[in-house]
Amino acid sequence: MEECIFCKIVRGEIPSCKVHEDERVFVFEDINPLADGHTLIIPKNHAATIWEITEEDLLAVHSTSKRLAEAMHQALDATDVACVQLNGKGVNQIVPHYHLHLIPRIKGAPEIDLTKWELKPGDMDRIQEIGDKLSAAMKA
Ligand code: 5GP
Ligand code: ZN
Repeated sequence: MEECIFCKIVRGEIPSCKVHEDERVFVFEDINPLADGHTLIIPKNHAATIWEITEEDLLAVHSTSKRLAEAMHQALDATDVACVQLNGKGVNQIVPHYHLHLIPRIKGAPEIDLTKWELKPGDMDRIQEIGDKLSAAMKA
């Protein structure tokens, strides 16, 4: 995609702090880090969301996340890591090129706000009804 900012990063037309690349994925530091070491993994092939990305690229992104999490453990002394991935403007996806955020929490660093949602028990009937709908759709 000509105008896509992450495609431009893959092509080297926009500079980035590259961490790693292979034939399918590109890994680089986020320029607005939520914490030290906030890193993005993207497929080199343009795909906006989880609905467009191929299964091969999805597997490549997510298996790279395991290697990157290991590296965060070893190189940054990260005790914990949040893996976050947004699809669509309605959930505040800003860049429409699939990307997986890995946000490490380095020993002694403050909590990552994004991960602190309040737990409120739901309506069990509604939970069951929605689960059944999804189950039926996955069988279809
Ligand atoms: P999301 O689409 O999941 O909301 O987040 C997009 C992420 O991409 C943001 O965390 C933002 O800081 C990052 N980002 C946007 N533009 C650039 C850029 O040009 N370079 C880098 N390295 N990160 C970017
Ligand atoms: Zn793109």
